[in-house]
Amino acid sequence: MQKKPRIAVIGAGLGGAAAAALLEQAGFNVRVYEQAPAFSRLGAGIHLGPNVMKVMRSIGIEDELNRTGSHPDYWYSRDWKTGEIIAQIPLGDYALSHYGSSYLTVHRGDFHSLMIDAIPDHILSFNKRLNKVEDLGDVVRLHFTDGTSEEADIVIGADGVNSKIRDHLLSAEPPKYTGYVGHRAVFPISAVKGFTHDLCTKWWSDDRHMMVYFVTQKKDEIYYVTGVPEASWDMSKSWVPSSREEMLGAFDGWHTGVQSLIEASENVTKWPLLERDPLPLWSRGRLVLLGDACHPMKPHMAQGAAMAIEDAAMLVRCFKEVGIDDHQTAFALYEANRTARASKVQLVSHNNTWLRTNENPDWCFAYDVFNVPLVEPSSV
Ligand code: FAD
Repeated sequence: MQKKPRIAVIGAGLGGAAAAALLEQAGFNVRVYEQAPAFSRLGAGIHLGPNVMKVMRSIGIEDELNRTGSHPDYWYSRDWKTGEIIAQIPLGDYALSHYGSSYLTVHRGDFHSLMIDAIPDHILSFNKRLNKVEDLGDVVRLHFTDGTSEEADIVIGADGVNSKIRDHLLSAEPPKYTGYVGHRAVFPISAVKGFTHDLCTKWWSDDRHMMVYFVTQKKDEIYYVTGVPEASWDMSKSWVPSSREEMLGAFDGWHTGVQSLIEASENVTKWPLLERDPLPLWSRGRLVLLGDACHPMKPHMAQGAAMAIEDAAMLVRCFKEVGIDDHQTAFALYEANRTARASKVQLVSHNNTWLRTNENPDWCFAYDVFNVPLVEPSSV
């Protein structure tokens, strides 16, 4: 009997974990290599739109996520100074009936932990930092910083914005700093005084914003993430500590609702917002990319992880459609069915216009990666 091709996924972030869970479920021979020794509950939240929740249904964690996260009734946009509601996009029951799955906001650590639990332990190795890749034609050799090496027939680079697999395919080049940072803080709602917050609100001025939402079903933890201009960033750092004082300066004169959050936040971190121009290729030989490894974006649509997860689901769909032995055709089909959508989300995120007015978000939220008609590579 012919041996099943070995698929290696580099990185167990949100995209890599989704790929691993779906590949394993479909009966493929998959192993995941993650550089971190373990994952912790870092202070951040994440939106999971109906487009992502359909993938979570397939992975088998939709119900648990629905029990864990907060279900905002609307995405509100408010004016930075007056607090006036300038747009309100229906989510909640409307999302469920209109898109067929919920819109959730959740703690990123809780979400990631459910994703990791969905992967059998024996296929996931922590403390495996990929150092070098050799595509030998009939097999790929993966070298790790602990001195070990592994072989695989197909390698999925889900290794994030500084991807080694991307560097191997296209030569090493750092991502672009966009000139914006994101401050992040999660804290108990009991610490917030003087303003009653809606479940999900983005506060906007012309040059900066603060996105605010609850991250638990119990509504006992609230989170904010900002976009604030900052001229330069030391690219050797993936984040730095920030402070309440820095936040008070950045949001001086803003509405009481925003001030109430800044006053309540004890631990604030600051992250660079990074991007890349669309890549000329997503795969070569036996290597293929997904998520931030190929299309990192500003987080202003709250769809960066969503795109990584949709990529993973589409890649697995293409393997099933074409057959794993013809990986190059599967890669071409995958790329043909993902580049336009990922590039559009990248552009709207860059422009930071999403849901600032009462626009129709159906093109984004109604997307069903398992049922969207496939386009052939030659027709794009
Ligand atoms: P990552 O999540 O970065 O995972 C990559 C994994 O690969 C990591 O676990 C890493 O340790 C591992 N790795 C890296 N190098 C190696 C190596 N050499 N060897 C082995 N392992 C390696 N997206 C949303 O959808 N909703 C949001 O609300 C949202 N908010 C955001 C807020 C901010 C401030 C930022 C910066 C981003 C936000 N995003 C959001 C974007 C989202 O975080 C990313 O798009 C998403 O994490 C990409 O997933 P990924 O799996 O491609 O990469």
